[in-house]
Amino acid sequence: MTQLWDFSGGIHPPEHKDFSTARPVRRAGIPERLVLPLQQHIGDPAEAIVEVGEQVLKGQKIADVKTGMGVAVHAPTSGVIESIVEHPVPHPSGMADWCITLRPDGEDQWCSRNPVPDYRTLARDQVLGIIRDAGISGMGGAGFPTNIKLRPPRNRKVSTLILNGAECEPYITADDMTMREKADEVVAGLKVMAWILRPERCVIGIEDNKPEAISAMREATEGTQTEIVVIPTKYPSGGEKQLIRILTGMEVPSGGIPADIGVMCQNIGTAVAVAQAVVEGTPLISRVVTITGEAVREPGNFEALIGTPIEYLLEQAGVQQDRLSRLVLGGPMMGYTLTTDAVPVIKTTNCVIAATASELPAPPPEQPCIRCGQCAEACPMKLLPQQLFWYAKATEFEKAEHLNLFDCIECGACSYVCPSSIPLVQYYRFAKGEIRVQRAEQLKADRARERFEARQARLEREQQEKELRRKERAKAAADAQARKKAEAEQVTAEGEAVDERSAKAALVEQALARKKAKAEASQPPPATDTAEEKPDIDALEKQLGQARSKLETMQGMLDEAKAQQADNVDKLERAVAKNHDRVKRAEEMLAEARDKLAARPTESQPTH
Ligand code: SF4
Ligand code: SF4
Repeated sequence: MTQLWDFSGGIHPPEHKDFSTARPVRRAGIPERLVLPLQQHIGDPAEAIVEVGEQVLKGQKIADVKTGMGVAVHAPTSGVIESIVEHPVPHPSGMADWCITLRPDGEDQWCSRNPVPDYRTLARDQVLGIIRDAGISGMGGAGFPTNIKLRPPRNRKVSTLILNGAECEPYITADDMTMREKADEVVAGLKVMAWILRPERCVIGIEDNKPEAISAMREATEGTQTEIVVIPTKYPSGGEKQLIRILTGMEVPSGGIPADIGVMCQNIGTAVAVAQAVVEGTPLISRVVTITGEAVREPGNFEALIGTPIEYLLEQAGVQQDRLSRLVLGGPMMGYTLTTDAVPVIKTTNCVIAATASELPAPPPEQPCIRCGQCAEACPMKLLPQQLFWYAKATEFEKAEHLNLFDCIECGACSYVCPSSIPLVQYYRFAKGEIRVQRAEQLKADRARERFEARQARLEREQQEKELRRKERAKAAADAQARKKAEAEQVTAEGEAVDERSAKAALVEQALARKKAKAEASQPPPATDTAEEKPDIDALEKQLGQARSKLETMQGMLDEAKAQQADNVDKLERAVAKNHDRVKRAEEMLAEARDKLAARPTESQPTH
């Protein structure tokens, strides 16, 4: 016999479950129009991947999640996409959100499916991919995407896998009827999840007020190691943390998740959806919904297509509009009043209560707190509901947070027992909502500040880089200037030296030539060879050319130095002036030589 533990607090409200368990689960059929919200769970909304007017088949993916946390949406039957518009969705605020509306064609024609009965031949990631593509999110609670939940952090091995069959809230019997009628599928889904997670222990916890379900599940698990554990009926034993406490004796730490203590909880409906997705290749397109309350003639459970309007289900259950006082989505403890019956069934819709005025009367007016302490005694999370109420009412949210406001599971047990009829849960929801808004604003402000600081840092960095580049350019220019100056000085010095040497050499050459000419003139000229007395016109022309070329070079350097306002301009001007003289002298010498040559007597032809 499995040992059980108790959790603190808890209450025993009237169950009202037998209203809806008298009949087997009925197929709701196909309504005239299906409304499929793009967001049916916590996480990111899916994006429509079909166009208005497009014909789709049953099971075809019509919206998908490209990034982030979310799941796909599939067509629950074949038909035509009628619109993609905002439409009222199930939400406490009565808000509208983006939905795909599908007009069924009545053919109910499936798209091709890919069942994998022997999923053990696949890799675990492939099976998780099938679960993701089937659009499965938790079918109780907030609807966390199942494929993500089935991937706990690597350092947190799941040793105990729990299927939550407690279904502790009054009126709701969807899981009860699912276990009675689909026990084999529940076990098949549990096996798939156990194969993925490889836990040491698999447990299905069921409250003792569901004998038929207990018996069906015992039969379906016969011969397996899965334990069917019957737990005492007490609200909220189906709360994840409470069920873990009952079945394992362990407590999920404040602010933590079950995986922190090696436990994972999955919903009964989720197990069926996993089995259908993997073994049959069927995406999540329908679920069991309890339609109950004294304002319907034939309460019971319906296998309803996702997107079926609540009003259609109420009609199926024989709603009596004259008796209907209030529509509650979910149970009377944690559910909320619907403002319209046009909202559709979504993946997390488990129950609709069509209540008469006497059944769920409007709460009496709120009275002052009498500090009776009953709320604290009822709280299954060991919180201080009275103090939380004060702080929430006084908008002292920080103090409420210090009292672990976010550990509150909004079970409503405190409100239920409060003799002053204080709607305590509503205060906690308000406080949580305000804190979330403040956090979101703080996050936004932090991001804006980070962006501003990043921008400032970038501008400063760019300025520094710009300054560095400017300095490098200035240094390069100074270096180039210095190099040019040094080269110019070197050229000037070399030019002067060369000019000096060549001028001296020319003078010496001329002197020698004159001396030689004189000596030769004093002697009788030889009869046959007069070539040496002739001036060397070629040499003088060459000398003049060199002098002019040099002058041009020096003139160019001078022009450039002037343009740059260099400080060697004076030196270059002197060098240019000298070169002018040199050219002038060379021109004179050449002219003189040419005159001499012209004055020479005509040479007689040698006689032979
Ligand atoms: S049960 Fe109500 S009246 Fe009593 S202490 Fe709590 S809040 Fe106050
Ligand atoms: S609603 Fe919150 S505070 Fe009230 S009993 Fe439940 S967990 Fe405790």
